[in-house]
Amino acid sequence: MVFIICPACGEDVKISDEAKEGDVIRCSSCNSKLELYKVKHEFEAEVIEERDIDTNYFQDEDDEY
Ligand SMILES: [Zn+2]
Repeated sequence: MVFIICPACGEDVKISDEAKEGDVIRCSSCNSKLELYKVKHEFEAEVIEERDIDTNYFQDEDDEY
């Protein structure tokens, strides 16, 4: 069984034993899309589509005044 650390939320994410570099998986904790890549013999993941967990407040870029 192989685990990686989700770079978005820091949780362990289980990946398939047959996972390979370039596979896109989804973190079961934060639902971000992660792309796998290998560093030496270990998998790591890169966020390709981040889901906000519950920090949806900081979107006040409105310039309408
Ligand atoms: Zn996550």
